[in-house]
Amino acid sequence: MYFLYESTHFRYHSAEPLVKPFILLRKHHFYHHFHNPKVNHGVTTRFWDRVFGTFECIEKVKVPKSMSMDWLVEENKIKDKYSKHFHLNSR
Ligand SMILES: [Zn+2]
Repeated sequence: MYFLYESTHFRYHSAEPLVKPFILLRKHHFYHHFHNPKVNHGVTTRFWDRVFGTFECIEKVKVPKSMSMDWLVEENKIKDKYSKHFHLNSR
């Protein structure tokens, strides 16, 4: 189980999602990283955050430019296919 968690987490930061709906889990996780570490703890599922009341539904996540992932950004902006879920923060 731990390996699944670690490899999933690594992929979130290093490679594009293989299946489009999985972008929701990344959005959930990146909000935890970049905005509020007290919510959205789940990496492989959002279920437990709902159970423990730490779920926050996020429309769009601001990703700091300095921490943006290569798979997400192209020519200094969020790739069109992900622009519905993320935008780039200038810091
Ligand atoms: Zn992470």
